[in-house]
Amino acid sequence: MKQWKIQPLNPPSVTRHCSKCGKPSQFECSGNFRVNANGRNLDVWLIYQCAKCNTTWNMAIFSRVKPEQIEAGLYQAFLHNDRETAMRYAFDPAILYRNKAEARFDEVAYRVEKSRVPGDCWLEVIAPYDFNLRLDRLLSEELGLSRTRVKKLLESGRIFSREMALTPKTKVKGTIAIEKLDDIEENEKDLGADEEMHKAAV
Ligand SMILES: [Zn+2]
Repeated sequence: MKQWKIQPLNPPSVTRHCSKCGKPSQFECSGNFRVNANGRNLDVWLIYQCAKCNTTWNMAIFSRVKPEQIEAGLYQAFLHNDRETAMRYAFDPAILYRNKAEARFDEVAYRVEKSRVPGDCWLEVIAPYDFNLRLDRLLSEELGLSRTRVKKLLESGRIFSREMALTPKTKVKGTIAIEKLDDIEENEKDLGADEEMHKAAV
């Protein structure tokens, strides 16, 4: 079966009030953490900067926790500004909500890593990060079909999943196993070296 892994290329910026600009502004994620130890209390933030005036805003990840509450590997990831860790928190809806940060998910660019893996369904989509990507958009772009055509295929159940109800508005997140009826045309682009390699191996 086909497998598509959705990899975002950048963390979302957030919209919030900038005290220096005196109005709502766009803050870009630096990808860096700030760790502050105060006695037995630890604070960890992810650092953002106003795109207009560079004012820093720190998004709270952990506030006043005991050192032993943070797993050693995670602590090292904070100290070394690990990219995956920064991405995970920058996309985390609970962290964003708690910090009153409105993420600009519409600006997240992504690439689709395609391969062929053993499996029963037609297409498995794996999306580790939720950034409001709609299924109809993904399928339309990757299969070379019009958005209208993809919407019809989803609404009529000719593209479907055995595990969940799919609609054009279904958000691409987690793992979705997708099936289709045989006669649906595909005009898939960008097969890429990765897919060719897997094809040869399977
Ligand atoms: Zn500003």
